[in-house]
Amino acid sequence: MINLIILPGDGIGPEIIKQISKILKSLNIFNIKINIIYSYIGGISIDKYNIPLTKKTINLCKNSDAIFLGCVGGYKWEKYYLKPEMGLLELRKEFNFFANIRPIKCPFKNIDFIILRELNGGIYYGKPRGISKQIINNIPTWYSYNTEIYNEQEIIKIARLGFNLSKNRKKKLCSIDKSNVLETSKLWRKIINYIHNYYFDVKLKHIYIDYSTIELIKNPYIFDIIITSNLFGDILSDECSLLTGSLGMLPSISLNNKSFSLFEPCHGSAPNIAGKNIANPVGTLLSLVIFFEYVLNNKFISNKLYFSIFKTLSLGFGTLDMKNYLNNFKLVSTDEFGDLVNHFFLIND
Ligand code: NAD
Repeated sequence: MINLIILPGDGIGPEIIKQISKILKSLNIFNIKINIIYSYIGGISIDKYNIPLTKKTINLCKNSDAIFLGCVGGYKWEKYYLKPEMGLLELRKEFNFFANIRPIKCPFKNIDFIILRELNGGIYYGKPRGISKQIINNIPTWYSYNTEIYNEQEIIKIARLGFNLSKNRKKKLCSIDKSNVLETSKLWRKIINYIHNYYFDVKLKHIYIDYSTIELIKNPYIFDIIITSNLFGDILSDECSLLTGSLGMLPSISLNNKSFSLFEPCHGSAPNIAGKNIANPVGTLLSLVIFFEYVLNNKFISNKLYFSIFKTLSLGFGTLDMKNYLNNFKLVSTDEFGDLVNHFFLIND
């Protein structure tokens, strides 16, 4: 029996997670049983326990086969010392989720590539970091600093995963960095080139981050697997969501060395639309598709869910953010979208 822990989080988190809960309930019909527990992360955990991630939640995760997360953050906690996002960073560190795979796939266009983002290093974790005061030009002045830091082992790990993924796809890997300016990127490129020696059948290309932002929009079809750092991957995947219609469309899976994984959509908690039942649940539902394939090991169920989502979108049903993207658009709420997908999931065709 698979044990799954679900952490809905904040903002639109509970609304989008509700839609995958419907599908998970429907699994009964197919005689598939998953043991599901729910717990807290982010702002809601701060409200309840004064910290964004408790030991109890970490232990529940340790006793599970996979973690499913909604999203964290919101206006309410912006001025707090402990931020909701710290819970997510801590979770990624605790389980060594060093790689985040973000498929950028559009069912209506010929766009199908993956952003492989390093998740456990770089500027999000680098020390020293802080905000301090210093006398500059005789004036007490605030200053702030962060450290982008990567070691050889971190880059080797993500590079090997990138090349291995490429071998099972089009054998094309594109590394994105800023090696014309940053030392971390210089080491990144050197190590990617070195690991390439072991994967000579994979075609490797390097692009600088600045130009990549243009190429991704102008010519997305040339990409197959993109490998990049934590910061660049975070930003580029938001940009690439435009290729699929909306930020709400992108799923993701984070991996560690022990095949333990975390599933979550790529977007944040969207506090501007939270509680309105208008959030797009597709990224979350697609994350469940990946969960069915890789944790449940059930390609039939995974495909069935994928085609249910595809069918719903093909018929023109979508949340508000998909208005200018879908043909024959019919506006539905988050809940209605989830019901439609669940309906098609249950139909035997
Ligand atoms: P965001 O991704 O929450 O929202 C950006 C824009 O996209 C907003 O206009 C929002 O309404 C829209 N959007 C996002 N997801 C959507 C969906 N599923 N359906 C329809 N529209 C959607 O990014 P932000 O506004 O920069 O950040 C809001 C909060 O989320 C912040 O506290 C931030 O730190 C946090 N955040 C969390 C995660 C995470 O949990 N993994 C990721 C990024 C940001």
